[in-house]
Amino acid sequence: MPSVFKKLYPFLKPYKLKIFWAFISLVFTSVATLSLGQGLRILVDLGFSNNEEPTIKSNIPFDISTFSNLEKLGLAIAILGLIGLLIALGTFARHYLVSWLGERISSDLRVEVYKHIIHMEPSYFEETSTGEIQSRILTDTTLLQTVVGSSFSIFLRNILIFILGIVWLFITNAKLTSIVLVSVPLVVFPILLFGRKVRKLSRDTQEKLAGIGSQVNESLLHIRTVQAFHQESYEKNKFNRFVEIAFHVSAYRILFRSFMIVIVISLVLAGISFMIWAGGIDVIEGRISPGDLIAFSFYAIMVASSLGSISEVIGDMQRAAGATERLIELLQLEPKIKDPELSVSDKNNFSSNTTYNIKFDKVTFHYPSRPEKSTLDHLSLEIPAGKVTALVGPSGAGKSTIFDLIYRFHDPKTGSISIDGIDTKNVTLENLRSILGLVPQEPNLFSGTVKENILYGNLEASQDELISAAEASYSLSFINDLPLGFDSALGENGVRLSGGQKQRLAIARAILKNPKILLLDEATSSLDSESEMYIQQALTELTKNRTTLMIAHRLSTVMNADLILVIENGKLVGNGTHEELLKSNELYQKLARLQLFK
Ligand code: ATP
Repeated sequence: MPSVFKKLYPFLKPYKLKIFWAFISLVFTSVATLSLGQGLRILVDLGFSNNEEPTIKSNIPFDISTFSNLEKLGLAIAILGLIGLLIALGTFARHYLVSWLGERISSDLRVEVYKHIIHMEPSYFEETSTGEIQSRILTDTTLLQTVVGSSFSIFLRNILIFILGIVWLFITNAKLTSIVLVSVPLVVFPILLFGRKVRKLSRDTQEKLAGIGSQVNESLLHIRTVQAFHQESYEKNKFNRFVEIAFHVSAYRILFRSFMIVIVISLVLAGISFMIWAGGIDVIEGRISPGDLIAFSFYAIMVASSLGSISEVIGDMQRAAGATERLIELLQLEPKIKDPELSVSDKNNFSSNTTYNIKFDKVTFHYPSRPEKSTLDHLSLEIPAGKVTALVGPSGAGKSTIFDLIYRFHDPKTGSISIDGIDTKNVTLENLRSILGLVPQEPNLFSGTVKENILYGNLEASQDELISAAEASYSLSFINDLPLGFDSALGENGVRLSGGQKQRLAIARAILKNPKILLLDEATSSLDSESEMYIQQALTELTKNRTTLMIAHRLSTVMNADLILVIENGKLVGNGTHEELLKSNELYQKLARLQLFK
């Protein structure tokens, strides 16, 4: 637990003052609550007494000998009322401050985790399911919020009540107190024993819940495939299994907690009964006043119930400790793809007023999940500045991987990639990516509006620039046909558009970014021949004065490229123009035969 606090400290630090006041109001209400016992004692010994002179003095700091019995009752009630008022005020401050802290700290943590996660390299998200990350950001932080915003305050308050209560009990009556204290270890021991088990089970529950999250995500994302293959029952069963597993882990945890509560309550009640019995004898024999016994019982019950509350919230706190550990784990992840040292990136900078060439020098790369197979194998190639270069080759040859490496979504295992002679590892990711524009194979659209999706290329673009990008990508006419034009919402991943339309929006986005290096990954693959022709014209405009690298399966699209690079099994097996390759390259001849002269 202390280590969790240490890790949480940076999140608590900005709110030191609020935490201080929360603590003060917590101490204040606890002390005020405990003084209720004194109020009760005065009430019983003074207010309910019909003797002029009570047998046992009631420690009132001023002379009340002239008071009538009724006045004494009034005074006792007034004291109780005052204590009640102080408790109410203190509780207001404590509840407000502590709940505020809970909300604030969990929100900060949520933002911090998201801010960190969004910089992780794409391969991290291949290994960790997004459902799991979602669950950590939502469920784990909510758990933490409950703990900071309530359980922890309950815990502290009760610890305080427990300690102060015991001290007061001892001062008043050591004999009775020893009866109370004998029950303490009997209660604490099972708490510790069961608590450990509950903590482990809580962690398991959170993990199982995260599993449910990824299952929902995945099946809903691919809902069309699920329904098209009529696999709803399969998905339902799979989901059911996940839910049941999570339920059983939770049920087991609940059972443990219930056991813990039963044991605590039984032991506490047994202790209290015995104490009242022993105290009752003292009252009967005149050693203590009835008020003393009432106050004593009040404190004993407070002490006992504080133990009960501690045992209740300790489970929450342990779950939160697990949740915090997992969140901190996320925060401590180091992205594998990072900016270089400042001293290095200061010297290297891509400006936006020139065209760039790209060079791969003996690049070898394999995906982390397939360490045994090199996707790129000592690949060396040069992409000239300001020209259109096409990458062709069979499916799976490694063409898209080349794009990923230019973007530094992955780093090569050996070899280097340089742009204009600068190793891409020696510039900041922001600078590198600012000169690159990508139209991916699968156009990724967000669920916002058409406008928001195109503006993703350049958030500062003007309305005129937006419209001309839409025009240049031949999107304007279909956008105008949408119900709200540029303001039409696209649905998740652009489900409300056709494949070709999505692709045109992706092109508009890239046009708006106006990058120095344009990477087109099958940018026209989902277009019909007519739109493709238009897009080709648009691309001809777009590729002027910039380095363009395009992947295309249809050779008709690459025939006019200035340079064609033929890739096979992660190696460069030929380069030249269409005519040159037709004469000299066997693989290219094969591809051409299959496509052009059918
Ligand atoms: P296509 O023309 O079909 O798009 P490509 O030439 O672009 O193919 P790549 O996508 O670069 O091929 O893939 C090259 C190889 O790397 C393939 O064998 C593919 O299975 C593998 N691969 C691609 N992405 C990953 C990944 N994230 N993890 C593991 N292997 C991958």
